[in-house]
Amino acid sequence: MKKIFISTAIDYVNGDPHLGHALEKIQADVIARYHRSLGDEVFFLSGTDENSLKNVQTAEKQKISVKELVDKNSQKFFDLKKSLNLSYDDFIRTTEQRHITGAQKLWSLCEKDIYKKKYKGLYCVGCEEFYKEDELENGLCPEHKKPLELIEEENYFFKLENYADKIKDLIEKDIIKIIPQKRKNEIISFINSGLQDFCVSRLSERAKGWGIDVPGDSTQKIWVWFDALANYITALGFGNNEELFKKFWENGDAKLHVIGKGINRFHAIYWPAMLLSAGITLPKTLFVHGYITVNNQKMSKSIGNVINPNDLVSKYNIDGVRYFLLREIPALDDGDFSYEKFEKRYNADLASGLGNLFSRVIAMAEKHGEVLNNPNQYTKKEVENTWSKYREKFVYFNETLGEIWSLISSCDKYIDEQKPWEKEDKEEILSNLLFSLKNIAQMIEPFLPETSKKMKEQLNEENGVFKVEKKESLFPKIL
Ligand SMILES: [Zn+2]
Repeated sequence: MKKIFISTAIDYVNGDPHLGHALEKIQADVIARYHRSLGDEVFFLSGTDENSLKNVQTAEKQKISVKELVDKNSQKFFDLKKSLNLSYDDFIRTTEQRHITGAQKLWSLCEKDIYKKKYKGLYCVGCEEFYKEDELENGLCPEHKKPLELIEEENYFFKLENYADKIKDLIEKDIIKIIPQKRKNEIISFINSGLQDFCVSRLSERAKGWGIDVPGDSTQKIWVWFDALANYITALGFGNNEELFKKFWENGDAKLHVIGKGINRFHAIYWPAMLLSAGITLPKTLFVHGYITVNNQKMSKSIGNVINPNDLVSKYNIDGVRYFLLREIPALDDGDFSYEKFEKRYNADLASGLGNLFSRVIAMAEKHGEVLNNPNQYTKKEVENTWSKYREKFVYFNETLGEIWSLISSCDKYIDEQKPWEKEDKEEILSNLLFSLKNIAQMIEPFLPETSKKMKEQLNEENGVFKVEKKESLFPKIL
């Protein structure tokens, strides 16, 4: 039994969850459920990043305390667990004491690489990051398209230069594996352009007292990224009770971070450097997804096209939303949402595709009575082929689902060719179809857990015999 650690990024809580957050959480959930289905022992983590300056500014605008703001909004992110059927084992908030203790311990272990200096630089509060002049686009933050703030302070810095060669080597050799390849290439070329030491604190005064104190210097707060990255290990008890930390991090078989392309650099460079400095084991894989546009436009409050995943779920259903995000958006690239695309996919693939096939077969089987699970060689081979492509492609979710849906089409074609309604003996045909559907239910389990459950219940296989029980349809058509 392998021990697998899987995390999502932790989100800023100055706003509500949107479709992009939903995509990432669902993707990570699929990987977690897949590993559990293989019998692995999984620790699946999500959480919220609460020590950022943006929270201080947003709370000021809303005339509430920062604590009230983060409590209120963190809850909304936690509630995605239910609304999107996510299977987190833990949810960490970076304002929790267990995190504060662990983040300070990590800082102390890095102390040999931390020094103080006067500095002047351009800072984006949205990114919580300093930018070099040549990284800006028309003088604006490349991520937020907003002007930056000129900051002049005496802060602590981390000697990143000490680790540049080592990190480049780890990434080139896939010891820290970044998928997809193009995100790996971006990191290599960023390292080649020369890594500078990075600032790891800010004046407590500028942070308005919000954040985690630098150990031994209460005039400074730990830079929010240094603190946030530590969540992956503080949630496992690092700096407190380290049993889970030893089990899943130090001795884990896989440690996978699911993140967006905009924060790849923090995870591929800063995080490993901090861990190397502290003498802690490194993560093994970065799964880097893209962004979702809505009608080919960036989601933004000013355009008013921000999609709240909870609205989609209540309008359609959880598995409809999960399916769209996993099938229509390429797993490791950008994609687009529109209501039109959503309804088209839903009706074609779920209502008419899987839903229709399932209800046709279940209706015939119920009329026929008990069916032995005894498929012919051809069906067994076809299903086995789909399983091998499934295992091979798994994290390319859209392609994996494509393989499952080919099997669904093939079942439809088989019914049309065989015309079981014209045949006296339907046993073999039904056996082949029910066997395929049983496997399809298993294949979709990580993607569409509720639907998989409903299918298994209706197929009702016991000791190699299907005693089909017809219940509600899987996906009512959207009219
Ligand atoms: Zn920015």
